Amino acid sequence: MYNSDWHIHSEASYDASLPVEELIASAKRYGLKQFGITDHANLNIPSFWENMYKSKQLYEKYQYEGFYYGVELTVIPKSLYDYCAKYGTREGYTFPSGDKPCELEFMLTLEDLDKLGIMYCVAGAHSILNVELDQNKIIREWHRQQMYIATDPRVDVLAHPWWFPSIKEWQDSEGRYFDKPWFGDFDVIPRSMHNELAAALIENDVCIEANLSMICGNSYPENFYRKYNEYLRYMFEKGVKLVFGSDVHRSPYGDYRESVEKALSVVGFKPEDFSAPKIHKRSGLKNLKS
Ligand SMILES: [Zn+2]
Ligand SMILES: [Zn+2]
Repeated sequence: MYNSDWHIHSEASYDASLPVEELIASAKRYGLKQFGITDHANLNIPSFWENMYKSKQLYEKYQYEGFYYGVELTVIPKSLYDYCAKYGTREGYTFPSGDKPCELEFMLTLEDLDKLGIMYCVAGAHSILNVELDQNKIIREWHRQQMYIATDPRVDVLAHPWWFPSIKEWQDSEGRYFDKPWFGDFDVIPRSMHNELAAALIENDVCIEANLSMICGNSYPENFYRKYNEYLRYMFEKGVKLVFGSDVHRSPYGDYRESVEKALSVVGFKPEDFSAPKIHKRSGLKNLKS
């Protein structure tokens, strides 16, 4: 059975409410062997630092065998990172204009990861930044951000590859994507991008995530899931390590093993195909806030 989950948001995350106590109890009940909380580290401003401290406190309070303390990083413009470092807020920041893709960054430095004692990082693309809403441009931008993630030494897992944020222009009235940017036809993404990404992931020992919302459900057209799972299989056969992430944000923390197995066995995955990310021994400061 699939018995690990490397992408979970706890009550410490600004957008989540799952109590760690409940998570541990559910993990025991379902026989999860390895799992971790990965709360959002989006911007280097005080509120996100508070989330990080709270996440760490909860981890320490509920320590349990096979339970890990991770984080979810998101790609931001370097100029936004610098702005937040200078002003302590994102209020007043504007995206750089022009056609040039902006330089990228994450909220946490390697030094910050040490200070916090973070054991592993998942990282994902979540925003189109200053890119124009054009299908080809968006595909190139997503690939660019995912390449940044795959080649950065802070990252251990590429979260939800080719996930896409809520963009009204391309969604139906229920908020579902039926076509653009790639949900109608996943083959609009050039194979060369998959090959380039796979090579980078392997070279840097970064795992790819089978994210629950991307592999099954009803948020995307029905034929999308099959294509997407074939894509994961393609990456896996090239040698990319695969991990599972539920990306649960709130109670109840469910038992997803049956749906995961059903979705992924169709394309040939077996439970033993799942890996664990690299776990780092970072000591962490005793008194974090000083
Ligand atoms: Zn995410
Ligand atoms: Zn997440």
